[in-house]
Amino acid sequence: MPRYLFVTGGVMSGLGKGVVTSSVAKLLQLSGLEVSCLKIDPYLNYDAGTMNPVTHGEVFVTDDGGETDMDLGNYERFLNRDMSKECNITTGQIYKKVIDDERKGRFLGKSVQIIPHVTDEIKRRVRKLAEDKSVDVLVAECGGTVGDIESLPFLEAFRQMRMEEGAARTLFLHVSLAPELSVVGEMKTKPTQHSVQEMRRIGIQPDVLVVRGSRPLPQETKEKMSMFTSVAVESVISDPDAESIYQVPRLLEREGILKPIMKQFGLKSRLGMGAWNRVADRFSDWEKTVRIAMVGKYATLADSYVSVNQALTHASAASGVKSTISWIESEEFERDPAKLRLLDGFDGVVLPQGFGSRGIEGKIAAANHARANAIPFLGLCLGFQLASVAFARHALGLAGANTTEADPRTPDPVIDLLPEQRDQTDLGGTMRLGGHDVLIERPSRAFDIYGKEKIRERHRHRYELNQKYLKRFEEKGMRYTAFSDGGRRAEILELEGHPFYVGTQFHPEYVSRPERPEPVYVAFVAASAKKAARPGSPEKIRALAR
Ligand code: GLN
Repeated sequence: MPRYLFVTGGVMSGLGKGVVTSSVAKLLQLSGLEVSCLKIDPYLNYDAGTMNPVTHGEVFVTDDGGETDMDLGNYERFLNRDMSKECNITTGQIYKKVIDDERKGRFLGKSVQIIPHVTDEIKRRVRKLAEDKSVDVLVAECGGTVGDIESLPFLEAFRQMRMEEGAARTLFLHVSLAPELSVVGEMKTKPTQHSVQEMRRIGIQPDVLVVRGSRPLPQETKEKMSMFTSVAVESVISDPDAESIYQVPRLLEREGILKPIMKQFGLKSRLGMGAWNRVADRFSDWEKTVRIAMVGKYATLADSYVSVNQALTHASAASGVKSTISWIESEEFERDPAKLRLLDGFDGVVLPQGFGSRGIEGKIAAANHARANAIPFLGLCLGFQLASVAFARHALGLAGANTTEADPRTPDPVIDLLPEQRDQTDLGGTMRLGGHDVLIERPSRAFDIYGKEKIRERHRHRYELNQKYLKRFEEKGMRYTAFSDGGRRAEILELEGHPFYVGTQFHPEYVSRPERPEPVYVAFVAASAKKAARPGSPEKIRALAR
């Protein structure tokens, strides 16, 4: 029989509720329990697939092709386990199902209402997920902040589940914030009191409070919070800022978070933190630093490339090399091409994913600059495509070459729509999505990187390399060394005679985890570290000048 740990958030968004959820799930997993996570998104979109990464953060792709909330990426990275589409529920999915059922006459003439019909559908999905995954504990995080109108039906469903399952099978963990104004110098409890009052108003009394803050909560502040919120003082858990998100499980464990959870669930902890702590320790123990430029279209919000950042961090931690990442909006290179020289000051350039025609020319220029100036380069999905366009223009002399996504009338469509996309009109869930096997040719740099001929990687694209140009590319030293779908889709490019110039049509970042860094990222960080150490590199020149 599964247990349900419900995570809600108070005071404001952006508290790191996803990291708390992942960390608590990790501690339960390290205690020998079978655990999975669920993210509930109260918006009306069916899934995250059509959402703009600048406003909503990255779209995470699961192996089964789900386009999900970026928190699923955290769950996978912490638990080192694949999530599935069903691990992300939205209001859109719930309403669609209820309305479809109504049209089929399944409600037998009743008026269809939020309670019980919408809440029943929510509970059904939550329970089904726990059963399908055969978990001991399902950790379910509700997006948004308590008090939002749109999350009410979900919280009501949680309240009902407490009635139906009992307190030994349900636990409410509330994440809040103790803000501190520097002039006052005191961590304030009032916002937490108010958000717990809001929870109680809708019939939920939190069992555990996790309180974010810039520093640990003093004991008397915990006692005050406990008194006002009726949460036992040992269940008021302090969650101060940490150097790395991967240190949060240990931090919460030291605060004693497992005790009230295990007690309520009637479980015994066989906690073994050793292996995880060794992984987490790598995220602060850096020997040297490399400077990476990310040339993006959505560079204004760090969260829009969260998996890429994380994958770079995992590769860095594995190699003891800290990557400091600078984001550059690719349109800057369009406004002022002289700015491309900025890239010379970096040890590596990443050209990440993207859609649409804005900022494309700047990205192509960056891909070309890294090629011509021997700067280690990693192109991801759109980055792979634009590295191909840059090569066609500057090495094959096809000046008008482009991707048909940016220029449908280009004379040389080196990147073109996937054939099955031609008649596609719907935007949601219609790309080439999710895990596909990729076969690597040998000998090749790709084979050296992965050390095997078959890998499985995740995808999210509508365009691909037009293989009519394959021969011409290869004659000039741009090799395509991995393919999928029986050779129909090119998946990896690599440039001969360049220190490191690699692109992937897939998204290696979606499968990178602290306990399993993705090989192409590890190779890229190693190549960047090599450049940083080379005499004459800008880093060295600056050091000499000092
Ligand atoms: N826009 C490109 C395509 O659809 C690249 C997608 C991506 O970078 N994820 O193929």
